[in-house]
Amino acid sequence: MPVINRIAAFQAEMVAWRRHLHAHPETAFEEHATSDFVAARLKELGIEVHRGLAKTGVVGTLVNGDGPSIGLRSDMDALDIPEANSFEHKSVTPGKMHACGHDGHMTMLLGAARYLAETRRFRGTVRFIFQPAEENEAGGAVMVREGLFERFPVDAVYGMHNWPGLPVGTFAVRPGPMMATADVFEIAVTGRGAHAAMPHLSIDPITTAAEIVGALQTIAARNTDPLEAAVVSVTQFHAGDTDNVIPNVAVLRGTSRTFRPQVQDMVEERINRIAKGIATAHGATADLRYERRYPATVNHDREAGIAAAAALQVAGEAKVVRDMAPSMGAEDFAFMLKARPGAYAWVGNGTSEQSRNLHNPSYDFNDEALVHGASYWAQLVEQCLPADGAR
Ligand SMILES: [Zn+2]
Ligand SMILES: [Zn+2]
Repeated sequence: MPVINRIAAFQAEMVAWRRHLHAHPETAFEEHATSDFVAARLKELGIEVHRGLAKTGVVGTLVNGDGPSIGLRSDMDALDIPEANSFEHKSVTPGKMHACGHDGHMTMLLGAARYLAETRRFRGTVRFIFQPAEENEAGGAVMVREGLFERFPVDAVYGMHNWPGLPVGTFAVRPGPMMATADVFEIAVTGRGAHAAMPHLSIDPITTAAEIVGALQTIAARNTDPLEAAVVSVTQFHAGDTDNVIPNVAVLRGTSRTFRPQVQDMVEERINRIAKGIATAHGATADLRYERRYPATVNHDREAGIAAAAALQVAGEAKVVRDMAPSMGAEDFAFMLKARPGAYAWVGNGTSEQSRNLHNPSYDFNDEALVHGASYWAQLVEQCLPADGAR
C-alpha cells in the first residue's frame, strides 16, 4: 500500500497549515500562537484537547472504544536563526525560523489526526502529543515530569523527525540508538594574571587551557574503543580583555556526545582528569562543570519493529532503511523513550537542493513529505490498535 489516498486528498490543506506555521515560528516555551493553532485544528475534528503541560504543550485524545493506547509525538518549536529564504511563507518574525522542520512535524500529526477522526478504523485510544521546546530546553522532559503519561496513559509512544539526505517517501528506523546524548561542559582554568611583558610573573591560563583543548582530542582518539562512538568538541574559548595583560582566568565550553552509559562515564572522567592534570602541571587550577542534558534516544526493539512494519506498509520494502547509522545529534524524545516503550523514525525530506541541512538558515521542510509522514502515523495507529480488537 502506498500513501493513504484519503490523506493525499487533503494535501493542499496540509501544505497551507505547514506554511502558516513556518511563517510564524516561536521558540522554547513561547509557542503560544502555535499552541492555539494546533488546539483549534484538533477541536475542529472533535478531538478532546488538553493544554498547559510544559506551558504550551497540547495533548489531543481520540477514543474509539476499548483497546490499547498509543502516543504520537510532534515537537513544536522553532530556532533563533534569521531565515535566509525569500519565498512567500518565510518567517515573519525577525531572528526566528523553523529550521528543523517542526512545522512539518506538527502538520503531519494534524493530518493523521484528521484522517483518524474521520475514518475511525481503529479500536482504542490515540494521544496526539504536541511538545514545546525540543531545541536546548528539553520540553519533552518537562512534559514527562509534569505527568504526561500518568494523565494520558499510553502503552507505547512514537516520534518522527524529517531527515534531509533521505529521499522523500523513504523511512529509516532501527532498534537501539538513533541519536546520541547531549552533554555540556565548562572548564574554568584559573592561573595568575600579570603584565604581558613579564610572563614569568604569571601562571598563564591561556597556554594552559590551549593544552587542555589539544589533550581533550585524545579522549575520542585514544580512550574510546574504536568500535564505540564519542565526540568531544570544544566550542568556546574565552579569555582576556586586552593586548598587554595575561588574564587570571580562561573558560572553555563544549559538548560531548556518546551512545552508551559506560562511554559517557568515561568521557566525563577523562575530561576532568585531563583538565585538572594539565592545570596542576602548570600551577593553575581547573574546575569542571559537566551537565548531562539529553540522554541517548534509544529505540525499544519490539516497537522499532512495529514502526518499521508501518513504514513498510506506506513506503514498500525498498524504501525502509533499517540499518542507517545513528546520528551524533540529540533529541529530547529520549526522555519519553525512557518513560515508555516506543520508537523514533526518520522520514525523508529529500535530497534536492530544497532540502538543506537541519538548522541551516536556508532550510525548509519539504511539503512533499507531508502525505508520507501522515500516512505512516495513520498506518501505525491502525496497526497497533486494530479495529477488530485482535492484537
Ligand atoms: Zn533541531
Ligand atoms: Zn528537530
